[in-house]
Amino acid sequence: MIYFDNAATTKPCEASVAAAVQAMREYGNPSSLHKMGLQAQLLVDAARESLAKALCCMPEEIIFTSCATESSNTALASAVRLYGKRKKKLIISAVEHPSVAEPAARLEQDGYTVVRIAPDEQGRLLPEAFAEAVDEDTFLVSCMAVNNETGADFPVREIFAAVKRKNSEVLTHCDAVQAFCKQPLDTRKLGADLLSVSGHKIYAPKGIGALYVKKGVRIAPLLLGGGQEKSRRSGTENVPLICAFGAAVREFTDHTKERTATVAELNSYLRQGLASAAGVELLSPVDATPYIISISVAGYKSETLLHFLESEGVCVSSGSACSRGKKSTVLGAFGFSPAQVDSALRISLSHENTKQEADKLLEALSAARVRLCKVK
Ligand code: PLP
Repeated sequence: MIYFDNAATTKPCEASVAAAVQAMREYGNPSSLHKMGLQAQLLVDAARESLAKALCCMPEEIIFTSCATESSNTALASAVRLYGKRKKKLIISAVEHPSVAEPAARLEQDGYTVVRIAPDEQGRLLPEAFAEAVDEDTFLVSCMAVNNETGADFPVREIFAAVKRKNSEVLTHCDAVQAFCKQPLDTRKLGADLLSVSGHKIYAPKGIGALYVKKGVRIAPLLLGGGQEKSRRSGTENVPLICAFGAAVREFTDHTKERTATVAELNSYLRQGLASAAGVELLSPVDATPYIISISVAGYKSETLLHFLESEGVCVSSGSACSRGKKSTVLGAFGFSPAQVDSALRISLSHENTKQEADKLLEALSAARVRLCKVK
């Protein structure tokens, strides 16, 4: 199979698999006081250092979680627990991943005010729009770094700076899942108090994530128990997956420049091919991350197209992979018409994809237009 669904998940790299296997064989519990426990603790510490290096932060600012969904849920729930008695308003972008949008919707049901900032006509999120919405009653602003459906790359640093200028007490959270390792994410400059990342988007296995918590920022944990992760996330550490995450981060960050250059070249090759393909419209902005290209194919349903491409040996995604065929509200919030949303496909790239694979995708797309019936 040709795999163009790397924003949904990636193939674990050899280094991450080897690190997981080694940690499973050694199997100590980091909380144990004997040698095996210490050895496991050292492995966790090394992985934490790798994440800290990638995010330009201190190791103690990293909490390991089970996934980015847990990280972002923790960020929102913690903010509410600590500040939600006095303040009632949170602000998110209208194009957040469900791992932020859904907890925010739950808070809305609980009586909080949720302001959703929509992108402008060019698909941009404007710092002024966030700052304008911030007031004395606002306790949290959450904005993603890169959108998982279109690849739109948002000016998070400017957004958080504008927010903090208006009210320095507001907590800032960033879902950085689609940006992590692929572009610079210097937490010292970004202005995020909290930031979520995930392992399986960067060639680690599924089931491991992390939450960056800026030094001095308090956190009310979701999970209470044995006091692991400095009492900020109880539960015995998943040492194998933590080690795998650390190894994948090291391998990616050692090669970010080459990988991103390879992907950028492939992206422009594909964009050229797509631009000249009949009926195909590019939905991703020109300055989107090179890792994601969103298109719509006029007159064809996403799912029908997806399964046709699958039958031709090519995996892509319809809208967001997390939504399991559920209609995305995100593309609508970007201003795309229902017809464009219904026929949207997401092609997401890896440094391992080749031009030959891109050609095969382009051929399969043009075959789809010949072989499939248009929807009326
Ligand atoms: N945030 C974004 C932008 C994503 O693309 C995803 C997964 O698709 C997530 C969060 C959720 O990550 P996880 O699967 O680690 O919970």
